[in-house]
Amino acid sequence: MPNKPTEGNGSLPAVTRSGIGPWHATLRAFTCAGDRPAPQPETTHVLEDLALDRSLQLALEDLGFGKPTAVQKDVIPLALSGSDLRVSAPTGSGKTLAYLLPGLQRLLQAPLPTDGGTLLLVLVPTRELARQVLKTARQLLGKSTLRADALTGGADFKYQKSLLRKNPEVVIATPGRLLEHCEHGSADLRGLQVLVIDEADRMLDLGFRDDVLKIAGFCPAERQTLLLSATLHARGLSDMSAALQQDPVAVSCGDIRSAHESIHHQRILADSQEHKDKLLLALLQDSGRKQLVFANKRSTASRLADFLRHHGLRAGCLHGEMSTEERKAIVTRFEQGGVSTVTASDVAARGLDIQGIDTVINYDLPRSGDDYLHRTGRTGRADSKGTAISLVTAADWNLMISIQLYRNITMEPRALAGLKARYAGPKKMKSSGKASGSKKKAPVAKKKVRARDSKAKGKPRKTTSVWPTNDGFAPLMKKRREPNDE
Ligand code: ADP
Ligand code: MG
Repeated sequence: MPNKPTEGNGSLPAVTRSGIGPWHATLRAFTCAGDRPAPQPETTHVLEDLALDRSLQLALEDLGFGKPTAVQKDVIPLALSGSDLRVSAPTGSGKTLAYLLPGLQRLLQAPLPTDGGTLLLVLVPTRELARQVLKTARQLLGKSTLRADALTGGADFKYQKSLLRKNPEVVIATPGRLLEHCEHGSADLRGLQVLVIDEADRMLDLGFRDDVLKIAGFCPAERQTLLLSATLHARGLSDMSAALQQDPVAVSCGDIRSAHESIHHQRILADSQEHKDKLLLALLQDSGRKQLVFANKRSTASRLADFLRHHGLRAGCLHGEMSTEERKAIVTRFEQGGVSTVTASDVAARGLDIQGIDTVINYDLPRSGDDYLHRTGRTGRADSKGTAISLVTAADWNLMISIQLYRNITMEPRALAGLKARYAGPKKMKSSGKASGSKKKAPVAKKKVRARDSKAKGKPRKTTSVWPTNDGFAPLMKKRREPNDE
């Protein structure tokens, strides 16, 4: 019987088996700490109820996960208590299990409704992340009979309808495609118990706000809603939480602005695009394992992949304009070692968990400190060590300093033999480390902008690479124009 919880954990050999005990203990500790006060006579009963289903414990054992991570310790008991949660925790801290385990536990511990429909829905911003979460969900459900499937754009709609007819209890989806299924009547969310919005800030960045709200409109009001991200201060997120959640509890694990301890940050000065190309080639030829290279534009990511292949490297490219099949193929080849370098736009920065990425290279410096966090968080995952290398031109200097200040990291200066840049950093610096005198030059730049603006009237404005603020929140595109910019 799929819906019947397996035997109570109190009678499990669990506590004595390696890989199970600590998970068990965490839940007990939570209950004992009284986060969810229960009437005294029921305490024992509640303890039994709170412990993870045996099928999940066995799956965790197979995965070799002995102890919960910090975010899992905090989030699992709260989520099991039924609260709506807003969770922020660093990349690579294990948020996927933090929401999947309590979500699946909820389904496993109660009788399943007979009328089908989705019970646990996880919304994610990208197809890659959907596949990754699906993989984890299936690993966790390996010892139970619950079904999990993913619905993402770019895949055959009719095929997805046939998947939905088989009534998977767990659905992982990107918002656009799921909304189509809701409107088409092929997805049934009327009995939904748990709604998870993973990478919530990225959802907003990608313009999924309305789709997410509409999807929530297809779900019952009395569901549990969990909102997760590495960064939870993005504009619009509080509104989204207010629209979707009831009395959410905020859980913040670790200082999300502080450095990811397992990542070594470096910077290499560069003079020009050609110089950056040479540096990239030298860096990649030097190291043998898996490297992810980020560019700000899709066209750059694609040019770099061609360039690297031309020089004999096994390189692939990943960006949002590629078909799902192409993206899937590259991620699989990267995972399996068929390609050792992937050049990517930021679509790959969120959530992707590919084992063994030892180096992340910012060919272009990301436009914000948060993007820096997400990009570099693809390495140094789950306690392994990683290196993040940023190529920095004169135009990037102040942005680099802003990122360092905002993320509270220091990028160690590095130069490659025979490829040292002529640019050696600003001649004069402010106490912050930024180039001094850059403001004085502003009026000249303003005139240029005005001239360009009049020539390019009606065309989209190009962005500059100088960060307007040092608060880490404002992407360049959203720069508030100074009155004399006009
Ligand atoms: P996040 O969503 O916070 O960026 P993930 O959920 O993708 O992080 O997890 C990062 C990595 O940590 C994954 O490879 C995952 O398998 C691993 N992981 C998660 N929980 C544990 C755990 N309790 N013990 C060991 N490894 C874990
Ligand atoms: Mg994640």
